[in-house]
Amino acid sequence: MSGCLCVTSIPLSSDEIYRPAGELLANLSSYEFSKDRIKHYFCSTCGTHMLAHVIPRAPKESQGRWYAMCGTLEVAESIYWPRHEYVEDTLDSGCASFLPSMNGRSIERWAQHPNKYQQLQLHWVMHDRLEIKPLPCAKLHAYCKCGGVDFWIRRPANRTKYLAKLCACDSCRLANGMEMLASATACVDTRQISLDEAGKTPFPVGLEFATLKTRCSSPDVVRGFCATCGASVFNHVKGEDTVDVAVGLLDVHEGARAESWLDWKSIDLKFQEDGLRRAKELTLAVVRGLDAFQRWQMGL
Ligand SMILES: [Zn+2]
Ligand SMILES: [Zn+2]
Repeated sequence: MSGCLCVTSIPLSSDEIYRPAGELLANLSSYEFSKDRIKHYFCSTCGTHMLAHVIPRAPKESQGRWYAMCGTLEVAESIYWPRHEYVEDTLDSGCASFLPSMNGRSIERWAQHPNKYQQLQLHWVMHDRLEIKPLPCAKLHAYCKCGGVDFWIRRPANRTKYLAKLCACDSCRLANGMEMLASATACVDTRQISLDEAGKTPFPVGLEFATLKTRCSSPDVVRGFCATCGASVFNHVKGEDTVDVAVGLLDVHEGARAESWLDWKSIDLKFQEDGLRRAKELTLAVVRGLDAFQRWQMGL
């Protein structure tokens, strides 16, 4: 419900206590993602998630731990080694299926908290998850963590599913603060979106409604995020009939990839050049991972 498929972050301290400067925190908005446990800090102007604070469960655990969002790092090469955590919550492996290994080394895929639970196999799905059925009459509910941004999507007019996209461009990265594998969007015709379930109130592209805040990331591109919880909501090229809706907002029963609504068969990584400039190993790993994911979907 942050709009992203996962949160990509690195701990800022191991032994010593790190605490961000008060002036930095004063410039950021905050939202409690997990009650009394995890607080995210994001830019009030553009919605980029910058920091997360994990509050200790017991007072003796000192001040808790601060994390920086990986997508905010100007250079990420050799800065961290990824691992997937809480994969079970996705029901379908989510974006963990896009990154099985890096540099020939496989990446850990923890069901829940690392080292406390078992690891899951590649492309794991929950054994009792509900069947994927593209029902023509159903509507897809999209909303952010705080519920301030809330809208409904009808099926595409001329096909069964919407196309999913994954982008490595700097603009997408800096809009949410996450690495490329988390920034999936679905390309949706704005005429298929409404603010109410009955479909009476059209989606006002480029306009702000409820807690939605917009800004132009370039003269042609409008991006929307929730001013209360910082969720990425959409990006839109001015003059086009479509918006790219953040997949992490979609409420579906079968899993994070929303496969009853989204087509992942032709998924590839857009704007790889931006990713290669700052996180070469990771970008190459995601390109290879997506290629293998496509082949897996085709049963090859
Ligand atoms: Zn919100
Ligand atoms: Zn992009």
